Amino acid sequence: MDSNTLTIVVPCFNEEEVLPETNKELGQILTKLIQEKKISAQSKILYVNDGSKDRTWEIISDYCEKYDYVTGIKFSRNYGHQNALIAGMTTANDYSDMIITIDADLQDDVNAIPEMVANYLDGFDVVYGVRNSRKTDTAFKRKTALTYYKLMGKIGVNLVPDSADYRLLSKRATSTLLQYKERNLFLRGMVPLVGYRSTKVYYARKERFAGKSKYPLKKMLNFAFDGITSFSVAPIHMIMNLGIMVVIVCLAMMIYTLVRKMMGDVITGWSSIMISIWLIGGVQLISISVIGEYVGKIFSEVKQRPRYVIEEDKFTDKTQNNE
Ligand code: UDP
Ligand code: MG
Repeated sequence: MDSNTLTIVVPCFNEEEVLPETNKELGQILTKLIQEKKISAQSKILYVNDGSKDRTWEIISDYCEKYDYVTGIKFSRNYGHQNALIAGMTTANDYSDMIITIDADLQDDVNAIPEMVANYLDGFDVVYGVRNSRKTDTAFKRKTALTYYKLMGKIGVNLVPDSADYRLLSKRATSTLLQYKERNLFLRGMVPLVGYRSTKVYYARKERFAGKSKYPLKKMLNFAFDGITSFSVAPIHMIMNLGIMVVIVCLAMMIYTLVRKMMGDVITGWSSIMISIWLIGGVQLISISVIGEYVGKIFSEVKQRPRYVIEEDKFTDKTQNNE
């Protein structure tokens, strides 16, 4: 097998509107890099069809016939973006020397790919794509993202700010990443744990080329919360501290009420009793739910369910003849 084989992994969920343009742009970049002999002629694009309900898989299959460098795998149903990325990397890693993951909607500038490859050729194992501007995001998304990175940093989770799932990983970095067996995937937190030499490539994030975001606010919030609870037990420590504080306050109140009682005061404090009951009740409910979240995580991890099921694998079909 040739050296410097690149596979570009592209997760796709209902992307029929953007695929033609995506394939055109990625195809151009790939062909150019092959012509310049930066990457091997065996390099491929790997579309991961994540249970699309539209014509996405038909389009991918059609491109697989037409273009030698296009391959695809099809999930049996929708397993989510992160699982699609892992599936692409798992399928392609034996065959590839480096893997780039990129969204299908052309929000990540494909022109950063040659720079990522150049960094790989210079000996870097991990190349993060970092947005140098978030102009196309709403003010709300920008603000929440910034707060989130700060919060994650505080609770000890290392993230590369403004980098999403657009990055290059060398073969050994991918192999290391694939040894992380958790079911609750949060790749942008996992990749920095892999280590090796890493660098960043800056690009301007664009508007979605066509179609709607598949990450509505609710999904985004869930993803953000998952990121915290999969990576840190800081919330449990916070609950512990909160509990200690509440107990200290209660002790003080106890002493105060006892003293008042001994002095013969009639206790009229109906309101203070109600307030404390509700307050403590609320604090307990929140605390239990946070702990429950971790128990739930353990539950889903111990089941060891497959992260995804591949129904059709045109990648292996195609690349086996290449070797
Ligand atoms: N995606 C996926 N499975 C899903 C949701 C999204 O494979 O369940 C893909 C989607 O096709 C796209 C990428 O993940 O290539 C990022 O999704 P999107 O652009 O909708 O998210 P946003 O950029 O709005 O955060
Ligand atoms: Mg997008």
